[in-house]
Amino acid sequence: MLIGCPKEIKPQEFRVGLTPAAAAEAVSHGHKVLVETGAGIGSGFPDADYTAAGAEIAGDAETVFDKAEMVVKVKEPQAVERAMLREGQLLFTYLHLAPDPDQTRDLLGSGVTSIAYETVTDRMGGLPLLAPMSEVAGRLAPQVGAWTLQKANGGRGVLMGGVPGVGPARVAVIGGGVVGTHAARIAAGMGAEVTVLDRSLPRMRQLDDMFGQVFRTQFASGANIAEQIAQADMVIGAVLIPGAAAPKLVSRAQLSTMKPGAVLVDVAIDQGGCFETSKPTTHQDPIYEVDGIMHYCVANMPGAVARTSTIALGNATMPFMLALADKGWKQAIQDDPHLRAGLSTHQGKLTSLPVGEALSLEA
Ligand code: NAD
Repeated sequence: MLIGCPKEIKPQEFRVGLTPAAAAEAVSHGHKVLVETGAGIGSGFPDADYTAAGAEIAGDAETVFDKAEMVVKVKEPQAVERAMLREGQLLFTYLHLAPDPDQTRDLLGSGVTSIAYETVTDRMGGLPLLAPMSEVAGRLAPQVGAWTLQKANGGRGVLMGGVPGVGPARVAVIGGGVVGTHAARIAAGMGAEVTVLDRSLPRMRQLDDMFGQVFRTQFASGANIAEQIAQADMVIGAVLIPGAAAPKLVSRAQLSTMKPGAVLVDVAIDQGGCFETSKPTTHQDPIYEVDGIMHYCVANMPGAVARTSTIALGNATMPFMLALADKGWKQAIQDDPHLRAGLSTHQGKLTSLPVGEALSLEA
């Protein structure tokens, strides 16, 4: 199969759909790989790394879309890219169709067979192609929060780990899933005193078993959240209710109970945010202040560490990409119901029930 990888064109997107390592694996399976020139540069992979892996370099995106039997990307195809898709071609990327009727219409119109990373499942009921980005965002959260805590950035001037004779920062993490657990581990590793609040008792039992010596857990009742945020130097928002907007767990009025210069890092901002005063920000201008409390609310946090994110995503997508290339998509999804869960459009038909429900379309 000819696998094509164009350069991402969405603003501020530095990741790439295929790493040189993934290209080399595909080539070793007997496939051809065509990568647009400069596609990997934002993640630190020059064209030479791809040619060394056995891939060919194309001068422009048109050539990649024209020749590829399977297009592997990171972000949903933009309008100019959608215009280059066709029936009989396979598209494997993040799509997020439910809130995006224009893209859905274009994919259906093109006839392309599309498989969305974000709806591929695993045996544990998880989302294996979303998890790596949650891991990245979770581990990044205390890092950006620690920077924001510095005086020059508007924070209270508290060092995460303290020093001998001076206590560490106190960090509250609301939501103990993938993001929250990784955030808590890193914050604790920086020397902070960490409490994770969640509403799921089974999850808190798991966390206590695994990390009881590293951080504490507490039930996420309104009273416990109020108590924790009043004591915290940093609060990390990491809740998710699948398919729903994030619940607002800290109100504007509660900011006045917090220490001046404390920091809110709202990782759940891509689902609307879990603090009332959160609004999405960018890597160019990531922080702002409300009532003396600093907010960091970047909606695409993994983009800040594009190289790590690209490699993490590539590790997760590679087995699925190889199965699709080796067997063809029909056989691959027949053999793997978890991959089948990603099938979104085929020959002008919507094949995802949740997307159909969200957009009132037949699926
Ligand atoms: P997850 O499903 O693994 O974990 C969510 C946790 O929230 C669960 O443990 C759940 O029990 C808990 N929860 C739900 N309601 C709660 C409540 N009211 N109080 C306390 N806990 C509650 O999800 P995840 O992968 O960790 O993702 C968390 C959020 O981070 C999601 O909104 C996700 O979209 C977002 N995210 C953002 C970025 C970014 O760049 N900003 C990157 C990756 C993920």
